[in-house]
Amino acid sequence: MTELCIDFGGTAVKIGVLDTGSPLATTQIPVDRRDPLGRAEIAARELIAGTRPEAIGVALPGVVDRRAGTLVRAHDKYTSLAGVDVRAWAEKSFGAPAAIENDARAALVGETVHGVAAGARDAVLMTIGTGIGTAAMMDGIVLRGATDHAGILGGHVTVDVDAGPCNCGNVGCAESLASTWALRTHPDLRTHPDLRALVEAAGHDRGARDVLDRFVRVWGAALVTLCHAYDPAVAIVSGGVLAAREAIVPGLTAHLERHMWSSAHRPQVVVPDRPDLSVLRGLAVIARKDLDA
Ligand SMILES: [Zn+2]
Repeated sequence: MTELCIDFGGTAVKIGVLDTGSPLATTQIPVDRRDPLGRAEIAARELIAGTRPEAIGVALPGVVDRRAGTLVRAHDKYTSLAGVDVRAWAEKSFGAPAAIENDARAALVGETVHGVAAGARDAVLMTIGTGIGTAAMMDGIVLRGATDHAGILGGHVTVDVDAGPCNCGNVGCAESLASTWALRTHPDLRTHPDLRALVEAAGHDRGARDVLDRFVRVWGAALVTLCHAYDPAVAIVSGGVLAAREAIVPGLTAHLERHMWSSAHRPQVVVPDRPDLSVLRGLAVIARKDLDA
C-alpha cells in the first residue's frame, strides 16, 4: 500500500512516497508562487517514477474544505490556490483517490499515530516556522468544528492588543509578532533572515537574545491559550527551528509552569524526532483512512 503525500509548506513543498505510513522516498522543492501545482506535479512524477500510488494526501497551510477539496483561505500564502479544487488536481494528476488537510492537523495525526506522541488521545500541536500552525485533539478526535476552522488558528490568538494588524484581520497575533514572517516584516528584525539565524545569533549577540526571549514568550502565551482551550496531556512543538530545542523548549515549559491556570494540568512538552516527516506521515494515515471509508 503506497501513499503519495504532498506538503505545501510556507517556503518549500515536501513530497513523499510512503508505504503504510513509512517513508520510502522523499524530495523537497522551493515553492513556485505562480504555479505551485504544476511545479509540484513535475517533482512528484519524478519521485513516483511511473508507479501509481494507491492513495494521495495533500496538505496546505491554511483553512481547507475537506469535502469540497479546496483551500478556503491562507492569507498571503498560496493566494493563487484560493478556491482551486486541489483534490481534483491530485486525483487527475496521479490517478488515485486524494484527501486534503490543513498541514498542522496532518502533523498532529502523524505524531499521535506514528510519532513522538503515539497513542496520545488529548494533544495539541504548535508548529513554528514561516507562520505558526496549530491543531488540537480531544478524546482521540482531531477537532474540525462547523466549518473546518477549529483548533488551527492558535497562531492568530492576540498576544498584544496594541501591536499592529496581522494579515488575517486580527491585531497583535502571535504569528505576526514571532515567526519567520515577523522577522521579514518588522524593519528592526530584518537582520535575521529566518528563525534558525535568530537562534544562531542569540548564542553570541545580546540584541538577538532579547528578540529570541520575546519570541519564546509569545509562543508560550499562544501555547497557554491552546492548553486552556483543549486541556491536552501532551503539547507537541514542531518546526525546523526546534532542531535547537534547548534554546526554546525550556523557556516554553517555564512559561506554561508560571502562567497557566493554577489548577490546570501542565502538559508534557515534546518535540518530534523527525519534524520534517510529521505532515507526510499524517497525510498517509488520513489518505488511507479516507480510502477505507
Ligand atoms: Zn492573525
